[in-house]
Amino acid sequence: MIDSVKPLSSEALLQVLSLSEDATAIYTSEDLRIQFANDGMIAIWGKDRSVIGKTFEEAIPEIKGQPFTALLQNVWRTGETYTAKDTPANLVVNGKLQTSYFDFTYRAILDEQGQTYCLLHTAKDVTESLKHRIAIAENTKREQHMNEELAAMVEELAAANEEMAATNEELSATNDELIDTRDTLRRSLDAVKESEARFQNLVREATTGIIVLNGDNADILIVNNAYARLIGRRVEDLLHQSLFSIIPEAEPAFRPLIDGVRTSGEPVYLYEHPYFVYADGEKIEGYLNLVYQPYREYGEEVTGVMVLCQDVTSQVDGKLRLAQAEERARLATAAAKLGTYDFNFKTQEVITSPRFDEIMGFNAPQKHEAYLGVVHPDDLDLRARAYQKAFKTGHLHYTARIIHGDEIRWIHAEGTIYYDSQHQPERMLGTMQDVTGQQLQQQQKDDFISIASHELKTPVTSLKAALQLIDKLKDNPNNAMLPKLIMQARKSVERVGILIEDLLNVGRLQQGEMHLQKSEFIVSQLLNACCNPISIAGKYKIQIQGDLELQVEADEHRIDQVVTNLLNNAVKYAPDSELITVVISRENGFAKVAVTDYGPGIPEAKLAHLFDRYYRAEPSGHHVSGLGLGLYISSEIIHRHGGELSVTSEVGKGSTFYFTLPL
Ligand code: ADP
Repeated sequence: MIDSVKPLSSEALLQVLSLSEDATAIYTSEDLRIQFANDGMIAIWGKDRSVIGKTFEEAIPEIKGQPFTALLQNVWRTGETYTAKDTPANLVVNGKLQTSYFDFTYRAILDEQGQTYCLLHTAKDVTESLKHRIAIAENTKREQHMNEELAAMVEELAAANEEMAATNEELSATNDELIDTRDTLRRSLDAVKESEARFQNLVREATTGIIVLNGDNADILIVNNAYARLIGRRVEDLLHQSLFSIIPEAEPAFRPLIDGVRTSGEPVYLYEHPYFVYADGEKIEGYLNLVYQPYREYGEEVTGVMVLCQDVTSQVDGKLRLAQAEERARLATAAAKLGTYDFNFKTQEVITSPRFDEIMGFNAPQKHEAYLGVVHPDDLDLRARAYQKAFKTGHLHYTARIIHGDEIRWIHAEGTIYYDSQHQPERMLGTMQDVTGQQLQQQQKDDFISIASHELKTPVTSLKAALQLIDKLKDNPNNAMLPKLIMQARKSVERVGILIEDLLNVGRLQQGEMHLQKSEFIVSQLLNACCNPISIAGKYKIQIQGDLELQVEADEHRIDQVVTNLLNNAVKYAPDSELITVVISRENGFAKVAVTDYGPGIPEAKLAHLFDRYYRAEPSGHHVSGLGLGLYISSEIIHRHGGELSVTSEVGKGSTFYFTLPL
């Protein structure tokens, strides 16, 4: 069949090509001379038919710098077809440079030797289609993008859905929990209500005073009966009031405490703290043990203070009474100069007061044996008997002697035995007293009684003898003995009278019953009257010298007693001194009377004691009767007058007793 086809001439071929709808051009040299370009191609180029015969770049000068020339020439040289799609080319069309897009093919037409003899250039303007495609692509892209976004949204939605489902689950779980919690809460609330009721009950019934104060005003939130009673009020009068508006008198003492606890948040404890308040005009006072506890209503902040108060008034009063009793006992033992001891029978341990040691002759506490060791050997038996008795009666008392070096002292011990649970003696508490002074006084009294009895017995015996003789001679009144016997009886009675007077005077002096009856008299006249009986007796000569006119105001009878005593003593104790001088003088507003004898005198050591009651300075081997009261009574009489009785004496030369009376 092919053989039957008539070959077309070149002209005819070109004619056919020019009709082709595809733009077509043919280049016939390596420098791309345009042999043929159909209308399609010329329209693409934007030129006219004058391009025929020109080289590619001559025909389309704006193509320079674009890749097409080189691509075409490469196809020429290599013979390899080059195809491209959607390739942009910048061409001047209608006088305007514009970019269009082309699908094109460069194909080398080869001769029999395989040499290129022309290039066939076909092209198709795809600008519109490209734009369309681009638009489609963009649309597609947009759609894709939207799709993607949609997908993402769907995914998100799904996720959200999932989350919602999860949340739903959680919600339903939470709901269950909430229901549970509500039930628990209800139960807790019931429990709280119950517990609060119990708490209120506890607070109300507590024996400890409880009050809860809130805020700066110390408003009373809770208060119980015990507290109300402490301040003499009723609970209903206190609730929701400011505490210090009710008891302002307590504010100065208690406000700082409450504020302190509120600001520091630290509790405060007070023991045996005194308080007082007024209720219905009456003062209530006592002692409290107090606890101030910070009170936190919400969270951490202290909003108030809870105060617990325990009334300890009776305990404190008891303690005070005990302390006072102890103090009284201490003062009493100190005043009585009592030593105290606490002896433990089981351990033999002894606790002593310093005064006890001092009485027993030690300057520091000793072991039990040391105290026992100073008891006089003759009194150990007495002491042992006292202890035996004490174990039966529970009470010890004895008086015994102790030896301090070469001194003997008297002690008096008292003690009470305390027993253990098996009724065995456990301790003995007691006192120790130095009774040496009392003992000596007792001794003196005993001595005095025996002396006084003896002194009274002598004149009474003599009186008795005289009366017996008088009785025998009563039928013979002319017997020469009778006047003598009567004189003896009279003297004995006088002596008894003097002794009794002395004893009465001592009694009166001791009871402060000696009253002075003062009058004015001349001292020398009183002295004369006193001297008379002595002078009459004959043996003694009494000289009265000095101011014989001197007058005093005094109790004449008592001064007579003093002078008589001094003159009698001079006669008694200086029997060999026949002269007694009495001198009256005036000295510094006082009348002075001095009675001097020239007898044996008195040793200096004894002078200070002469005026003591019952004191007698007996010279050895020489007994003179007397009670040791004369000088004591005289000195008291003179003292009561505001004067002084004194003595100067020298052994072997004599003594001068003198007294003064205020003028
Ligand atoms: P009485 O004479 O009863 O013993 P007094 O009180 O009068 O008591 O005297 C106390 C003591 O003073 C006497 O015991 C005596 O020892 C001493 N005395 C008193 N007067 C004299 C004197 N003139 N000379 C020496 N001794 C005297």
